[in-house]
Amino acid sequence: MNVDFLIIGQGIAGTLLSHTLLEAGASVLVIDEYRPNSASRIAAGVINPVSGRRFTISWLYDDIYPVAVKTYQHFEQLLGVPVFKDRNIWNVLPSEQLRDAFMERTSGLAYMQVPETDPYEQFLHQPFGAAVIKGATVLLHNLLPAWREYLKEHKSLREERIDLAALKINADGIQYKDISAGRIIFCEGAQTISNPWFNQIPFLLNKGEVLRVRIPGFNTEDIIKRSITLVPQSPETYWVGSTFAWDYPDEMPTPEKREYLEAGLQQLLKVPYEILEQQAGVRPSGTDRRPIMGLHPEYPALGIFNGLGTKGTSLAPAMAAQFAAYLLRNEPLQPETDIKRFFNRRKG
Ligand SMILES: Cc1cc2nc3c(=O)[nH]c(=O)nc-3n(C[C@H](O)[C@H](O)[C@H](O)COP(=O)(O)OP(=O)(O)OC[C@H]3O[C@@H](n4cnc5c(N)ncnc54)[C@H](O)[C@@H]3O)c2cc1C
Repeated sequence: MNVDFLIIGQGIAGTLLSHTLLEAGASVLVIDEYRPNSASRIAAGVINPVSGRRFTISWLYDDIYPVAVKTYQHFEQLLGVPVFKDRNIWNVLPSEQLRDAFMERTSGLAYMQVPETDPYEQFLHQPFGAAVIKGATVLLHNLLPAWREYLKEHKSLREERIDLAALKINADGIQYKDISAGRIIFCEGAQTISNPWFNQIPFLLNKGEVLRVRIPGFNTEDIIKRSITLVPQSPETYWVGSTFAWDYPDEMPTPEKREYLEAGLQQLLKVPYEILEQQAGVRPSGTDRRPIMGLHPEYPALGIFNGLGTKGTSLAPAMAAQFAAYLLRNEPLQPETDIKRFFNRRKG
């Protein structure tokens, strides 16, 4: 089998890159080992223009958001499943001081509103009020399996773990078993740290834990956010996340983080809830919190698309478009995202 690109991984990164390259007319084969706790399968897919306790507008948000909307809507047409949903993010303000900071940082922005009525009085504790941010969710539980099926139907997916010992680099690209490819692009998420060609990139992996809960009688389409975030999944059922840990012995859910998430629920909710499930996954973040993409300086047949960190759903469409333009037409990458920043630093 002969393809232009062999892509390793079908999380958000591999999904968006394979889609963009196929749309541009390239031939693509994806190899993915299904892992139920990969970051893309644990994430709620929230797109939030504002991040952090200081309500900073997310990096490049006004540029990347329109690309994200257009790309996810294109997936909807192609795959026939809902993928993108506009949602209000109902921010419960935790203190007077943070209420003032929020108003100062976000007033005048098109995606920020002060609510005139409170539909949640019966359900939520909110002594300092709330503010609404216009956000969205990407329905990853629809997108990832539907894209997987699409790839399978087009004979463009193999479900296995790549055996790197069987990968050969040659003058025209790479050979992997019966596959010849011009380039191999690793979209391995957190598992990239065991990739011998790219393991010098300084990743700062970040474990996150979430709960799935049922809140009897509580139904909304909004995302509710305070110290924790509630994202609607199905009637009365919510994703509750998430935690952060940079030092962790394994990828298993822990009692400590369950306690943290439950404390957040108790602080927020006036009504009872029931825990259905606890899950954990690892976010693939770089130390500078910017996407990581490019070709290996010594072996340009090998590439990487990673580092989507906490913002995979908003970043991936625009970053995949930039990386595809680089791969197909040699258009320059932004210095902030190019892997050269790590290799240059090592030489210097
Ligand atoms: C708890 C939590 C909550 C999050 N919430 C959000 C959110 O609300 N919004 C948001 O935008 N982002 C969120 N994120 C971040 C987001 O999930 C990540 O940015 C994104 O999923 C990273 O995607 P990826 O494709 O790079 O990696 P992954 O999702 O890890 O995908 C990598 C894929 O590659 C496969 N793979 C790896 N190595 C190999 C190999 N050697 N051979 C074959 N297959 C391989 C894996 O099995 C997997 O399928 C969250 C993350 C976590 C953990």
